[in-house]
Amino acid sequence: MPTLAVMKTTIFDSPASRLHAVPPGHPEHVGRYEAVRSALLALPGCDWVEAGAAGMPDLARFHSAAHVDRVLSACAQAPDGEWVALDPDTLVCDRSAAAALGAVGAAVAAVDTVVADDGGAGFVLARPPGHHAEPDRPMGFCLFNTIAIAAMHALEVHDLASVAIIDIDVHHGNGTQCLAERDGRVFFASLHQAPLYPGTGGEGETGLGGNVLNCPMPEGVTGSQWRARFETQVIPALKRARPDMILVSAGFDAHADDPVGGWGLRSNDYAWVARQLAGIARDFSRSRLVSVLEGGYDCPALGRSAAAFAGALSEA
Ligand SMILES: [Zn+2]
Repeated sequence: MPTLAVMKTTIFDSPASRLHAVPPGHPEHVGRYEAVRSALLALPGCDWVEAGAAGMPDLARFHSAAHVDRVLSACAQAPDGEWVALDPDTLVCDRSAAAALGAVGAAVAAVDTVVADDGGAGFVLARPPGHHAEPDRPMGFCLFNTIAIAAMHALEVHDLASVAIIDIDVHHGNGTQCLAERDGRVFFASLHQAPLYPGTGGEGETGLGGNVLNCPMPEGVTGSQWRARFETQVIPALKRARPDMILVSAGFDAHADDPVGGWGLRSNDYAWVARQLAGIARDFSRSRLVSVLEGGYDCPALGRSAAAFAGALSEA
């Protein structure tokens, strides 16, 4: 039976993702971007947009000036072909800032487009990821918190009353939670493996009177267990929040083949959650849905999962 497509899906591609080089053996490498890009190019019916770099006012909506200076200075100081370490996992080369600014620029453009078009699904194809970056601290492969900045852009530039950020990466989005903890217009929910890096995201962390919902689960979670938790906790909370836009930290490292995460999701679980989120966006958020690529470290599984997710966005 043909499915009624209710949302146009646009891929916001940041080719500057290729500029962020990492040392050999680092899991967050440019092959991830290429794997997702190839898989998304095979999807029928998506529009593609190449967005420009974000500017300093965008970054300042979430990060301190000291943080921005630290990241940009580290990149500027990296010798040609070498790296500067911001923490043991988070290394930058001379062109990493261009990649990170490109990721933020693509996310901001996705928000602009989804608002201007009065609805639609945007998928931000970019690296490095962002959800671990705190206002004052780069960490966990993340330099700037792309999704937090995009959320602030929606609130401050487009004057939306509220946004929700749903984090489906296997790791807790500690940096993004910082945003919800200081801004009651943001609802943040995360399903993540615990214990696992970065060690935050306990159920007792509930933000400002309940605008944070953490769903930690142990190693070994299956797709059906994950769906059940999403259905019983995240969906009701999202419906109560009735955000003006839904943003998704779309990490795919909960996949069974992922070498970093310890869960058992498959690509059809990502298609399922995309349909759930698109349906809620349609019914409660004026069909405004922006997803940002976060983690996912087995390139074949990452490509399949991202394509399943993006392909299902218009099928709610
Ligand atoms: Zn992750």
